[in-house]
Amino acid sequence: MTIRTRVAPSPTGLPHLGTAYVALFNRAFAHQHRGKFVLRMEDTDVERSDAKSDQAIQDALRWLGLDWDEGPDVGGPHGPYRCSERLSIYHDLIAELVSIGGAFHCFCTKERLDEVRSNQRQQGLVPKYDGHCIGLSMQEIESQIEEGVPHVIRLKVPTDGSCVFHDTLRGPIEIPWGQVDMQILLKSDRFPTYHFAASVDDHLMEISHIFRGEEWLSSCPKHQLIYTYFGWEQPELIHLPLLRNPDHSKISKRKQSTSINYFRRCGYLPEALLNYLATMGFSMPDEREMFSFQEFQEALTPARVSTSGPVFDLAKLSWLNGQYIRSLSHSELKEKMGAWAFGDGRADAILRLVHDRTERFDDVFSQADYLLGERATLTAESFNHKKVTSEDCVRVLYFSQLLLEQIKNWDSDVISETFKQLAALLELKFREFLFPLFVAISGRSVSLPLFDSIQILGLDVVNARLRSAINVLGGVSKKVTKRLDAEWHQHASQLIVR
Ligand code: GLU
Repeated sequence: MTIRTRVAPSPTGLPHLGTAYVALFNRAFAHQHRGKFVLRMEDTDVERSDAKSDQAIQDALRWLGLDWDEGPDVGGPHGPYRCSERLSIYHDLIAELVSIGGAFHCFCTKERLDEVRSNQRQQGLVPKYDGHCIGLSMQEIESQIEEGVPHVIRLKVPTDGSCVFHDTLRGPIEIPWGQVDMQILLKSDRFPTYHFAASVDDHLMEISHIFRGEEWLSSCPKHQLIYTYFGWEQPELIHLPLLRNPDHSKISKRKQSTSINYFRRCGYLPEALLNYLATMGFSMPDEREMFSFQEFQEALTPARVSTSGPVFDLAKLSWLNGQYIRSLSHSELKEKMGAWAFGDGRADAILRLVHDRTERFDDVFSQADYLLGERATLTAESFNHKKVTSEDCVRVLYFSQLLLEQIKNWDSDVISETFKQLAALLELKFREFLFPLFVAISGRSVSLPLFDSIQILGLDVVNARLRSAINVLGGVSKKVTKRLDAEWHQHASQLIVR
């Protein structure tokens, strides 16, 4: 049997560490067995998927050296490798699934479903679909379709008994069918949901092994049902332990940087990041922590993959990165450092910004220190201001994070125009609104122009600085988060973000 693995990111945001973590295991396992590693873009969510994110994920994986044998750009015998280009395949197979009794048309309105769910919640039940449309006759279905009533197609799920599926690391896992929802497989926009697309594509792409995050364990019964209805053989499942924040919660961008671009931007070496990610779910037989991708590929076996949640610790990664940097020769250091500083046009952009503000060349470095390296360490006192309270500083920083994430057009004019709107909504004078941002981003209350700085630093680094500044100011408790989120909700609808 040819071993075939895949990584299937959804292109809905910045390239996530979790994608690299999962890709690393899949690629190493396939290549250890002289098999193939596939990249599949799961752009099943039309609203949230975008071409920029698709490209950014590919770039980030390539930067890490996790390139693929088959995928959207390189093609392959099982293409296309982007879900949105495979719609006719899903439409044919969903028709087949309906005809063999594994799925059914559902015409329920949102209002009805909301009511069912709220009744179930009131009775202390887990909200799920109640099977209302499961018994519709062929005639009823046809006439509703003819009338153009919006509908979805749902998975038929048994009501009694349990599903037992196998995870290589955990053995058999049993989940009662009663806990499994009659999942939508095809949405009213005729796009498949992840569950249907992933099951169909894994089968058609002849995927033999799936390494993925353990958050997908609860989806396995749905996938197993689809496989069983079609009479397909299921790939072997290996659910990797979730990466965790230092407080052991699931890794999230609210608590630390999760975008691969952030690590690239800060000057971590791809080899070090891969090595560190490998130690998250795997340990070498001799327990050593520093090893190359090649060594990992040779040593990887599910028997050495753990199931307990590893903490993604930035200090540990930095230590490891330091080991890698120290092991570089002088010429390698020069080459890698040069590529890091000049490779993406950053040095150019910084020079343009300081050009008119420079009397001696060494002025460049004192002005641009925070653009080239980390900004100064802050304390709560850094935010002392006659007119801006520390609560307002937190408000501004918190909302700025949310706002920046929405900007599609990463350009200083757009950023400036959007921030002006936010300042007005927060009823703060623009200069006062900007104060905490200057401090959080540049480490001082006066620096090079803020919006150009934000453009140069990029979303990942800016958000990391905003987050750390909020922490310096005491962080936001759950209660305050709730209040701020509610306030944000009010503002968000009034903001025009380009
Ligand atoms: N599209 C899913 C994700 O974004 C893939 C899950 C899977 O590997 O099955 O993680």
